[in-house]
Amino acid sequence: MKQYKMWIAGKWVEAESGRRYPVFNPATEEEIAQVPLGGKDDVDKAVDAARKAFPLWSEKPQSERSQIAMKIATLLRENAKELGMIDTLDHGTPLLRAIPKAAGTAEWFEWAAYNSRSLMGNTVPSGPNELAYLQREPIGVVALITPWNLPLLMIIQKLAPALILGNTCVIKPPSIDSLPALKLAELLDTLGLPPGTVNVITGPGSTVGEALAAHRGVDMVAFTGSCETGKTIMALASQTVKRLQLELGGKNPVIILDDADVGAAVSAMMMFQFANSGQICAAPGRFFVHEKVYDEFLEKVTVSSKKMVVGDPMDEKTQMGPLVSAEHRDKVEGYIKSGIDEGAKLVFGGKRPTFPPMNKGYYVTPTIFTNVTQTMKIGREEIFGPVVCVMEKFNSDDKVIEMANDTTFGLTSYVWTKDNARAMRFANKIAAGTVVLNNAGSGGAELPWGGYKESGIGKEGSLYGLYEYTNLKRIQVDLMTPKKQM
Ligand code: NDP
Repeated sequence: MKQYKMWIAGKWVEAESGRRYPVFNPATEEEIAQVPLGGKDDVDKAVDAARKAFPLWSEKPQSERSQIAMKIATLLRENAKELGMIDTLDHGTPLLRAIPKAAGTAEWFEWAAYNSRSLMGNTVPSGPNELAYLQREPIGVVALITPWNLPLLMIIQKLAPALILGNTCVIKPPSIDSLPALKLAELLDTLGLPPGTVNVITGPGSTVGEALAAHRGVDMVAFTGSCETGKTIMALASQTVKRLQLELGGKNPVIILDDADVGAAVSAMMMFQFANSGQICAAPGRFFVHEKVYDEFLEKVTVSSKKMVVGDPMDEKTQMGPLVSAEHRDKVEGYIKSGIDEGAKLVFGGKRPTFPPMNKGYYVTPTIFTNVTQTMKIGREEIFGPVVCVMEKFNSDDKVIEMANDTTFGLTSYVWTKDNARAMRFANKIAAGTVVLNNAGSGGAELPWGGYKESGIGKEGSLYGLYEYTNLKRIQVDLMTPKKQM
C-alpha cells in the first residue's frame, strides 16, 4: 500500500505529528493508501514557505510563468492515464470518463497561460497634467481549499490562474480524496519551481482548513465546497480581511416547458444527473415540469434511470459508480428516507444494490421522487447524490419562475423550450449565476462560473476568473511636479 507524504517548501515530508490516515477505494471499501495527518504546525511551515517563495515567483516575467504553465498542461496530458486511474480508485469515477477528464484539466492552464499575457491595465484621463494608470498585481499567498467531488479539476481551476498570475499557493485537498493533489505535486516537483511556490498539505478541514482560513500569512482563500463550510471560512478569513473566492452549493432548477423537446431534455439532464453519481454542484436539483408534458417526462426519466449502467468503475461499460464514502452514502440515504417520510412519492430506486460486485462499495441506485414540494427537505437541500426530485406539476410561467427562485441557492439553472423569446424571458428572470437554455452544458476555462446568493462569491474561469487572483493598483503621477521644483 502506498504511503504518501506532503509537499512543503519543495520537500516531501511527514506531518509534524507523525500521524497518518487511511484512504479507501469507494467501490471495494479496501484501504488503498495512507496520507499524513497534517495540522496547524504544518500549515505554519507551508505558509512560511509560500511567503518566502512569493518574491521569487511574483517577480518572474509573465511570459516565463506562462511558459511554465504550458509545461504543467503538458504534464497533465501526458499523465492523464495515471491521474484518471487515481481518480477511479480514490473517488469511484468510471475509468472511461476519468482519463479524458484528467486530460481536460490541462485546458485551464493553457487558457490562463495565453490570456494572462495580455491582461492589460488602463490609463485614466484624470487631468491635463496628470498620468493615472491601473495595473494588476498578484495578491500574495493563496490558500486553495477544495472538495472531493471533482478532486483534480477543483484544484486546477484555482491553481492555474493563481499561479500563472504570480501568487504562491498552499493547497488543502479534501481528506477523503487527496491522492490527485499529491500526484499533481509529484508532477510539479519535476519543474524546479522556487521551493514553496506550491505546497500541498493533507489533513482535516477542521484543523488544516481552519488554520489556513485564519492564518495571518494567507492573503486570499479560494474555496469550493459546502455553504456551511464557506460561511465558517468567511468568518475566519474576516479576522484579517482576506480576499475570498467561494464556489458553494446549489439546488439547481430544471424547467421543462410545454413546448420543450422532452426526449432531448431527459437524455441530456439524466446523464448530467447521474454522472459522478449526482455528486456535481451543477447537477439538476429540482425538476419543474409543465403539466402538458409531465407524463411523457416521467415515463422517459424512468426508462433512462433504469437503463443507467451502475457498477464497477473499472469496467468500461459502467456509466455510474459508487458514492465517494460510506459517510456520504449514509447522508444520501438519509435524504431518501426523509423524502419518503415527508410524503414525496418514490417511483424508482432508492436502494443499495445487493448483487456482486456492488454488494461491496458505497453504491446507491438511481432514484426518482415525484410530488416533491419546496417545503420538503429533499426539495430545499442539496442532496449531492443520484436522486431526481420532480416537483409538483406547473401550468404558469410566472409561477414556475417564482418557485425556481424560491431558494437560498443561485448556482445554475436549465430551461427547455423551443420558443426563443420565452427562453430569454426565463434567462432574465432566474436568479442564478448561469442559465443554460436547451442543454446541460457547463463550459470550460473561457466561461465564467460562480453563484448568486448563498452559492458563492466571485467567478472561476474567463478573464473575470483571472482578475480574482489580482489586486488592482492605481498609480497616479503628477506631471507638473518636476517643473515646480525647478
Ligand atoms: P466541504 O465543505 O465539506 O469540504 C470542502 C473542503 O473544505 C474540504 O477540503 C474540507 O476538508 C474543507 N473543510 C471542511 N471543514 C472546514 C472548515 N471548518 N474550515 C476550513 N475548511 C474546511 O464540501 P465537500 O467536500 O463535501 O464538497 C461538496 C460541496 O461542494 C457541495 O456543497 C457542492 O455543491 C460544493 N461544490 C461547489 C462547486 C461550485 O462550483 N460551486 C463545485 C463542486 C462542489 P475535509 O475534506 O478534510 O473535510
